[in-house]
Amino acid sequence: MAAIDGLPPLRDVISRHGLDAKKALGQNFLLDLNLTQKIARTAGPLEGVTVIEVGPGPGGLTRAILSLGAKKVVAVERDSRCLPALAEIGDFYPGRLEVIEGDALKTPFEDLGIEGPVKIIANLPYNVGTQLLVNWLLPKAWPPFYQSLTLMFQREVGLRIVAREDDNHYGRLGVLCGWRTDARMAFDVPPQAFSPPPKVTSSVVHLEPIANPIPCSAENLEKVTMAAFGQRRKMLRQSVKSIGGEALLAKADIDPQRRAETLSVEEFCRLANCL
Ligand code: SAM
Repeated sequence: MAAIDGLPPLRDVISRHGLDAKKALGQNFLLDLNLTQKIARTAGPLEGVTVIEVGPGPGGLTRAILSLGAKKVVAVERDSRCLPALAEIGDFYPGRLEVIEGDALKTPFEDLGIEGPVKIIANLPYNVGTQLLVNWLLPKAWPPFYQSLTLMFQREVGLRIVAREDDNHYGRLGVLCGWRTDARMAFDVPPQAFSPPPKVTSSVVHLEPIANPIPCSAENLEKVTMAAFGQRRKMLRQSVKSIGGEALLAKADIDPQRRAETLSVEEFCRLANCL
């Protein structure tokens, strides 16, 4: 394995700092720096870019991002045990790593005053990954403060993010992602790449904000997708009964006999706009 920097191997860092993985924090660490570079490269050129990373842990992905020339990494980590290991990376790349100790779900990323361009890259803790993604997709102002999101999820969640109509994985998350972003599956990562290995395969997903998404209220879109996919096997005339039923469908010019899974993102926006 080729070294990507002059810092010690991650296995040594983890044992020296006693970073036994905590399940409650979704800690599955990546040890192969070539793999972390592959993830970071998925975000495209990093020169001159400030990267926000959630959950740097012992810093495998952080090191890859910095080695590829990012201007700066702002990393939010909840586990204070990781801070000394991250401080060593900060010493190796002076002035280029800022670590915020805290919960990413409570971090006001937009208000951190980070100068653009900004990209978000993270191997997300499984327990908070989807919520973080939804938070990044919902701001009123669009395009958002970041240029792209390059994120690792359980493969199952990755499939839901990129799914569009007529796909079994298509649902509320797919509609939200399809409404505001171009989302693509980059590659899979097998359980053995992590320490400890998780039970399932993971996937790296790359999302770029669409400059001009279909005008639509996020709340209304959420209302229609919640109703429609809440009873995904039923015809829409039944599943959207509580929010307007056949009258709503007629207004949006959508056949009441169709099922949620067959509606495009554009059709969901039309329904939301008729609410
Ligand atoms: N980036 C490292 C890597 O790729 O090896 C670690 C990834 S590990 C899957 C998830 C990391 O997120 C852990 O370091 C964990 O402590 C951290 N974490 C968990 N919940 C968090 C939260 N709410 N806010 C910030 N960090 C969190």
